[in-house]
Amino acid sequence: MKCDKLKDMLMTDYIDGRCAPDLKREIDEHLAVCVTCRQFYSVLVKNAAQPFKGLRPLEAPAGMWEEIKGRIEEKEEALASVSRIFFPVRRAVFALAAFAMVAGLLVGVKAWRLYDTDLMAKYTRDQLYYFSLEETDEGSDNGSFGTVVEEFLL
Ligand SMILES: [Zn+2]
Repeated sequence: MKCDKLKDMLMTDYIDGRCAPDLKREIDEHLAVCVTCRQFYSVLVKNAAQPFKGLRPLEAPAGMWEEIKGRIEEKEEALASVSRIFFPVRRAVFALAAFAMVAGLLVGVKAWRLYDTDLMAKYTRDQLYYFSLEETDEGSDNGSFGTVVEEFLL
């Protein structure tokens, strides 16, 4: 067992006497050969365990638990009343946030579609087609189709 892990065990289960027998034997064997861990354990016992030896557990005053329980219930009731007041507000804020998200998504999709080159190309083709159908004042007696596009380009 490594010293760091052993020190953790010394500070918890070992000093409390709650180690499983196999683990206690393993720790005892390590302590027998490792000066550093033995010194650590010695300091630990002196400063963390000895001051509490001989103390007897104190009994809680009668009625203490009932008083604590009452205070907890008062706080829970206060929180519940605050929650009842703010729940409709929270619901409205949630609805507003959801609406903002959907609106943002729609604007994003719309903006994305504006930059869609296929869509722009289709729009340009449609516009050219529309202008190509429009008749000019000159008529078609000069061999042309008499379209606006033809007039613009020729
Ligand atoms: Zn060690």
